[in-house]
Amino acid sequence: MQSPSGKPLPRRAANDTPPGQPRPHATYWLLAMVAAMALATAATLWWTLRQTHVLAQPHQQHDLWYVSSVHNELARVSLLARKVRAREASAQDLQERLEVLLGTLDTSGRGPRVSTQLREALPEAAQDLDSLRPLVERWSTQLAPLATQNGSGNTKAAAAITADIVRQSDPLLDRLRKVVATVHLFSAQEANRARQQLSQRFLVLSVVLGGLLLGTALLIAKLVRDTRLTRAASQQLAQANRQLEVRVASRTRKIEEGRALLSFILDTSPSDVVLAEVESGRVHFINRQLTERLGLKAAPETLFLPELLYDPETRERFTQALDRYGQVDAMEALIGENNPSWSSLSARLIEVEGQLAHLLWGFDISAHKALEGQLRELATRDALSGLLNRRAFLERSTALFDHCRRHGQPCAVLMIDIDHFKRINDRHGHQMGDVAIRTCAEAIGHALRDADLLGRLGGEEFAVLLPHATADSATVVAERIRSATAQMSLVSPQGQPLAFTISIGVAEMAAHHAGIEPLLVDADQALYRAKATGRNKVLAYEAAIGQS
Ligand code: GH3
Ligand code: MG
Ligand code: MG
Repeated sequence: MQSPSGKPLPRRAANDTPPGQPRPHATYWLLAMVAAMALATAATLWWTLRQTHVLAQPHQQHDLWYVSSVHNELARVSLLARKVRAREASAQDLQERLEVLLGTLDTSGRGPRVSTQLREALPEAAQDLDSLRPLVERWSTQLAPLATQNGSGNTKAAAAITADIVRQSDPLLDRLRKVVATVHLFSAQEANRARQQLSQRFLVLSVVLGGLLLGTALLIAKLVRDTRLTRAASQQLAQANRQLEVRVASRTRKIEEGRALLSFILDTSPSDVVLAEVESGRVHFINRQLTERLGLKAAPETLFLPELLYDPETRERFTQALDRYGQVDAMEALIGENNPSWSSLSARLIEVEGQLAHLLWGFDISAHKALEGQLRELATRDALSGLLNRRAFLERSTALFDHCRRHGQPCAVLMIDIDHFKRINDRHGHQMGDVAIRTCAEAIGHALRDADLLGRLGGEEFAVLLPHATADSATVVAERIRSATAQMSLVSPQGQPLAFTISIGVAEMAAHHAGIEPLLVDADQALYRAKATGRNKVLAYEAAIGQS
């Protein structure tokens, strides 16, 4: 991409956040860091707690208590043995004391209760404690029967046992005192080491906790900043939304006004306008002019081309042009079904709301068409007589002639001319001549069938084409015309009577006639003969040729 000055614009990565916007990735990183620090804190705490547990050293307390108890109880046994020897105590008392010592040494019989740590650190002390139990058991077993019986023998045995107890217990007590001191020392060293380790672990825990606090502080700062940025961004967005809404409302209003104006223009325009979907016929717009022209009271909801275009042939041409070129321009068509009227129609194929639609517009050319018809009629008619003029007569008679020839049917023509017409003009004036021409035209017309064709070829000369007529039947018709004319009597403006006659030449279509004109020439020849042989008569071509 390039700036307007041609310099390449700096590219921004797809995940780049615009300035002033929160960066979610940084937050995720901070969250991950805080989570990692929390995990590290938990691990370090657990590690430290384990160390405090070690520091408690219950086994050391137990060892100390155990060794001290054994020492004290042995000292009591030794003292009591001395008293028994001095007869200050009984053997039974000593027996009871030995039982207490056995109880202290663990009467369960599962061995000495010194800890593994002590056993490993001071193996001699453990050995002494181990060897004490069988010794005390032996003393107790030997003394038990003597304690319940009195007698000189028993007294001697008891003295021997107490002497043995005193002799063995003194060195044992010495060693146990040393063991107690050693256990004390050992416990103190263990406790020192454990305290040092605990101190180190607390240091590590402090560092990790410090990291956790720092990460949490950073995360909170980041979250606060992000919240501020988000709030500012949402305020900007809300403001932009409000501006957008105002613009949309303004645009909508303008569009509505434009639509209303367009509707008004189209409704008041003399043109017909409709916009309707091709498939569904749904009418998007139709103006009042066209609605009225179609004879509808209200705008229709649907309108299809066949309902609009009355003539099937025009409809076909219109649709083909629309399909092929997507447009039609100024095609003359009859529109409406009830009261068809001529319209000059144009159309475009366009897309409205995703659907193909016809946009049609046109204007009423009924008056123009009527005028055109009148002009066409005028161009084919003779103004004076109202009959077909020469050109129109030749056109239509040619078609009739061809039709009869194609179907093998006969046809005949009459050439009619008023006799001595110049005299009528000369004696009664040109206007009276015109009256005579019109009267003669009417007389001829009265004698003919609807299917016959009559025209004024020029001056006071007329021609008639009689389809399906032979020379004979045409001669009968001609005779009727001649006779009717001869019996007519006109009165001039000056009050003078006016009568005139006509001559008629007859010719029937024959094989040698290539068209209407040779046939007319033959009839004209017959007419020429009729004039030449006295006028006021009908002469057929065959007869005329025979006379000549
Ligand atoms: P013929 O019996 O041999 O036909 O004699 P005619 O006098 O009728 O001779 P012709 O056909 O030559 O004369 C035609 C005359 O008709 C000549 C012309 O002045 C006159 N004429 C032609 N057109 C009109 C017309 O429209 N009105 C009137 N009043 N006269 C016309
Ligand atoms: Mg004439
Ligand atoms: Mg003439």
